[in-house]
Amino acid sequence: MPLFTSIEKGLSLKSILRFALCAAALQSGLATAAEPQANTTTAADQQIIRAGAQPSAVGPADYFTGRVRVDPVWPANGSINASGGLVTFEPGARSAWHTHPAGQRLVVVSGVGLTQEWGKPIQEIRPGDVVWCPPGVKHWHGAAPTTAMTHLAVTGTVDGKNVTWMEKVTDEQYSMR
Ligand code: MN
Repeated sequence: MPLFTSIEKGLSLKSILRFALCAAALQSGLATAAEPQANTTTAADQQIIRAGAQPSAVGPADYFTGRVRVDPVWPANGSINASGGLVTFEPGARSAWHTHPAGQRLVVVSGVGLTQEWGKPIQEIRPGDVVWCPPGVKHWHGAAPTTAMTHLAVTGTVDGKNVTWMEKVTDEQYSMR
């Protein structure tokens, strides 16, 4: 339709074609210029992990109660020795009890969640809250009973390991607040 509109406004078909060819040439020129950079990326270059490149995973039933989805964000590496992951807990879902050898930070992104350190009361956590779980401290985290929760988990790694899983959080423990 834009073609006919332009012709009605007095532009010749020839000038429209010339414009279209220029645009195509410009686009192919940009693509050609971008390719060598992409092919010569080194560890010193800025890198972008594209959205959609890291598949979602189901939180394993051995370590979680209820429905949990894990979306990887970045892996730990030699520069930053902590991984990032978005974890989404459906209402009532939670992790098992566990510890982290290098600790963990949780940033609540959405919903309403719960977390508890062994021997202490359950605490409610909300978007914007940042939780620090010190190394070796036994704890769990998850959603509130009737509301889902998503948090970013930033978890340090020691010798390739970032968590030690323990027993499940029972319904009685979960409802104790
Ligand atoms: Mn944890």
